[in-house]
Amino acid sequence: MTSSHDSAIAAKLSKLRGQGLYRSPPLIQQRAGARILINDRQLLNFCSNDYLGLAQHPRVIQAMSKAAEKYGVGSSASPLICGRTTVHQKLETRISECLGRDRALLFSCGYMANLALVSVMAQKRRFEIILDRLCHASIIDGVLATGTRFHRYPHLDLESLQSRLRLAPDISKLVLTESVFSMDGDIAPLDNIAKMCGENDARLVVDDAHGLGVLGKTGLGAMEHFNLDQEAVPLVMGTFGKSLGGQGAFVAGKEADIEYLIQHARPYIYSTSLPVPVVAAVLEALRILTEQPQVLAQLHELIDYFQLRAAQLGFRIGTNTAIQPLIIGPAQKTMEVCKELEKRGLFVMGIRPPTVERGKSRLRITLSASHNKEDLDHLLNSLQECRKVVGF
Ligand code: PMP
Repeated sequence: MTSSHDSAIAAKLSKLRGQGLYRSPPLIQQRAGARILINDRQLLNFCSNDYLGLAQHPRVIQAMSKAAEKYGVGSSASPLICGRTTVHQKLETRISECLGRDRALLFSCGYMANLALVSVMAQKRRFEIILDRLCHASIIDGVLATGTRFHRYPHLDLESLQSRLRLAPDISKLVLTESVFSMDGDIAPLDNIAKMCGENDARLVVDDAHGLGVLGKTGLGAMEHFNLDQEAVPLVMGTFGKSLGGQGAFVAGKEADIEYLIQHARPYIYSTSLPVPVVAAVLEALRILTEQPQVLAQLHELIDYFQLRAAQLGFRIGTNTAIQPLIIGPAQKTMEVCKELEKRGLFVMGIRPPTVERGKSRLRITLSASHNKEDLDHLLNSLQECRKVVGF
């Protein structure tokens, strides 16, 4: 028997299909660097966040299996019970040393880290959260969870941020931004933002999920790139599931803030801590980043090459990061381009609302050190063909 609830769900799903907004996760059968097997076909992947190609590095895999033998696969408890090991501690110390922060704290993923960070750092009264309009869903969910008053400024509009900061000086403020925006690949001018926050006594929190392993002379992220210390950016969040090829996240900052998170962050307190093999894998990935600068150099060579070739072919794409968005506009047309690319052996997932604004559906092309220049040529030449076939 179909209840009214069942038919309401069916109607909503059918509406999504009609709007071209229905989403299903593709099934990956195998992965080898930038090559993936889907529906028994090998495709060249241009939408992974494994920017440095470290997810399958032999040293990372070896570190992982050694840790699994010693500690087991799962960590068996939340950190405050018995889920935190010396390997977790080692990674926390390594992260804090790399970023020049007092201390770091691990979370099971970036979504949880943001949820924890924002909800714990916001106060209830005489307080305002100010954030960039394009901040990631996990930051927005953290903000909404606080029930605190908030203001979203237009993307990278520092004048707007400045005037909001100057309003009501008696109200404490928390400013949230990404360093590299996840769907646009552009870089926030963190030096200016930090200066404004300092002048207006606001605390700055930076999500460096897409900056870590990409920005900075040695790939240590946005803090290294802009040379921002703990006074300038008191709280930094980063993830391990992107350029470090693993899983999980951290928040780094002042001793007292980290202690405060340990006492109050529900996603930290009430969730099983990261599996030790994953922590060991991330530690090894960080070592590789330091010992083998050619990996980061390869990514940047590809970014430069992509920018140049894309401009030559008349595409309006080109950021200084691993994320290269090609905005198509309508959701359905975006998915048509994806299908055409797939016919040519390429895999790029279309990004549609609600992840991006209506009318701004796009291919979120990502580059990785596991690509080569021929791969990029193949993509750009195919995009040129698709432009004619689909019309964009
Ligand atoms: N912040 C940003 C900017 C992200 O892009 C993501 C993931 N896409 C997250 C946080 C969440 O990280 P995780 O995937 O580890 O939950």
